[in-house]
Amino acid sequence: MTLPPYIGRFAPTPSGFLHFGSLVAALASYLDARACGGQWLLRMEDLDPPREAPGAQTAILSTLEAYGFEWDGELVNQSARHSAYALVIDRLLQAGLAYACTCSRKQLEGNGGIYPGTCRNAGHAQHDAAIRLRVPELEYHFVDRVQGQFRQHLGREVGDFVIRRRDGLYAYQLAVVLDDAWQGVTDVVRGADLLNSTPRQLYLQELLGLPPPDYLHVPLIIQPDGHKLGKSYRSPPLPTEQATPLLLRALRALGQCPPTELNAGSAQEVLAWGIAHWDALLIPRSRTLAEAQLH
Ligand code: GLU
Ligand code: ZN
Repeated sequence: MTLPPYIGRFAPTPSGFLHFGSLVAALASYLDARACGGQWLLRMEDLDPPREAPGAQTAILSTLEAYGFEWDGELVNQSARHSAYALVIDRLLQAGLAYACTCSRKQLEGNGGIYPGTCRNAGHAQHDAAIRLRVPELEYHFVDRVQGQFRQHLGREVGDFVIRRRDGLYAYQLAVVLDDAWQGVTDVVRGADLLNSTPRQLYLQELLGLPPPDYLHVPLIIQPDGHKLGKSYRSPPLPTEQATPLLLRALRALGQCPPTELNAGSAQEVLAWGIAHWDALLIPRSRTLAEAQLH
């Protein structure tokens, strides 16, 4: 039996510019792919135009280029994939696995944010309704390459979740599963803020008969003010002229030990060193890292 070739990806959301936390995630996925001769794809997760920052897509691409990242094939935009998402939603509705939910924001308050299944058997029309996926009363678990065992009970800890919003926008959980499978992604390397999305994605893969990729979640970088460098944090773009020191810092955040000679090197030289010496076992087994503690 031959193993499938490694296909990795970086999938930024253009709600802002790349920040140091996204650089750490991009670098980890890039090095993990290149160190084993794999492909590295780039996908723009532009599912939510109202939350998009003007110019963010172009800025993300030029930052990646300035930092020496080279992706394989054409950039994929999720905004061009709506018909694929719509098809699957229809199938899930027809199979009775998903249903229309007309609950107001007010009705959704309480219950610890877990949807109690109010509309499960209401038979609402799809028009002007969110579409939710029924979850089973089961615990899902997987072994993350860095974080180890992760368990989550979908019924008790998540509840039936939205796959198409009431305003017609498709949800990240659905799009990411369909696109990773469509692009043949074998290994997902991303920030630990998405650990607790993974069981939902495993469930969707199971329903749709899609092969689950291997997962590696890298620590999330926390700002001195306690702010998580996540999607919603509006930070300035990574400075182009600081590519070498910031890549070195990102390498150290990932537990790698680049030699000081690289301080005078180019971004390409730092990446080449990173590929040649990549050891995913050195990545800190932690969900967060304080930026202030990085050197
Ligand atoms: N688009 C997501 C983000 O920027 C990442 C999705 C993923 O890697 O699965 O946080
Ligand atoms: Zn409802």
